[in-house]
Amino acid sequence: MPSNDLNLIVGAGFSGATIANLLANKGEKVLIIDKKDHIAGNCYDYRDKNGIMIHKYGSHIFHTNNEKVWNFLKQFTDFNTYMHKVVGILDGIETHIPFNFNTLYDVFPYSLAKRLEEKLLDVFEINTKVPILEFQKQDDDDLKFLANYVYEKIFLHYTTKQWGVSPKDVDGAVTARVPVYLSKDNRYFQDKYQGIPLDGYTKVVEKMLEDENIDIMLNTDYKALNYKNFKRIFYTGSIDEFYDYQFGQLPYRSVYFKFETYDKEYYQSNACVNYPCNYDFTRIHEYKYYLDDKSDKTVIAKEYSEFFELGKNERYYPIPKEENTALYKKYLDKSKDDKNVYFLGRLGDYKYYDMDKAIARAIELFEEVCK
Ligand code: FAD
Ligand code: UDP
Repeated sequence: MPSNDLNLIVGAGFSGATIANLLANKGEKVLIIDKKDHIAGNCYDYRDKNGIMIHKYGSHIFHTNNEKVWNFLKQFTDFNTYMHKVVGILDGIETHIPFNFNTLYDVFPYSLAKRLEEKLLDVFEINTKVPILEFQKQDDDDLKFLANYVYEKIFLHYTTKQWGVSPKDVDGAVTARVPVYLSKDNRYFQDKYQGIPLDGYTKVVEKMLEDENIDIMLNTDYKALNYKNFKRIFYTGSIDEFYDYQFGQLPYRSVYFKFETYDKEYYQSNACVNYPCNYDFTRIHEYKYYLDDKSDKTVIAKEYSEFFELGKNERYYPIPKEENTALYKKYLDKSKDDKNVYFLGRLGDYKYYDMDKAIARAIELFEEVCK
């Protein structure tokens, strides 16, 4: 039976599970609910009948420079040494993404690539990361040609598929996640700590929630709870939904995955292959690579993107844009009237968090309000 010393956490993804774990460690009682039939939110994974670990909501690769987050997670799991690389098919040429010096030599004849490399190193320091919208500001004709090539072949169509608008119409921070990298490092991330939890993400969250102070209720929507008088509420769902959309809906992008099983050991050369120039899907994930699962079958998922529509699909990506931030802020201001209700997470904060940022934010919020 709920009582006034009980904390309610809405959402059992990494944000909610982090707060739940920290509160329980402090001896506080926690009820964590999720409307889904499983814990771990978008990081949910499971082993299928072939023994392959499937990331139900798309590939999740852990990476961070944040020691505190890394040490926090290490309490619950060990990680393998997987370092993510992304392959892209650029008009039939298989090469590296982000665009780097190796990509340059893959897509252009040697003499042209050499000239471009030298010109690039006249302008930029080695190992610099340059967002594409910045990279396009070149005076030299050769570099202009290169920038247009990268924009057109890597960013334009992929971003249009992913966000429904061109790279010039999404917040620059979005495309800056995958900058042009003046380096020979083919990795997608350069963070100090990277890897995949050895038993998967769901197991990590399960361990985070394994505490006698924590009760879990799945298949339970916050709106369906008839008791709402908790000590504190931590809400990791979307803030507009919490307030019944009274200022209007916050827009999101959604994605969906078409899964296919093949009767062969591998389907493609890499865990993640991007298709920036062709097809309606953005990328293909092949899951067995992440934990080096052995099977004579393989499972892939083609990823498609669409707008979020209430009742039709799920919220995946907040859309960073001034007017959306302003709408979010209206809700946040309103939330100040609700004492002891806190919003966090990719949906609750309306921020394009990676896992480490979601966990860091949850730790900070806990330290701010619960210590
Ligand atoms: P979520 O995981 O979304 O959890 C929120 C939970 O709240 C959900 O389970 C939801 O069902 C529940 N909920 C919402 N509303 C209600 C309600 N009214 N009642 C009850 N429950 C409710 N990050 C990385 O670091 N590396 C990656 O490689 C990576 N890849 C990604 C790929 C994709 C396609 C996506 C979408 C995200 C990716 N991320 C990645 C980001 C990562 O998924 C998030 O950082 C992380 O899931 C955030 O956790 P969260 O708890 O804030 O949100
Ligand atoms: N992007 C692109 N082409 C690519 C890869 C990324 O245009 O081949 C752009 C696109 O706008 C994408 C953004 O960079 O949404 C961020 O890419 P990331 O891989 O970080 O996206 P996520 O994994 O979060 O979906």
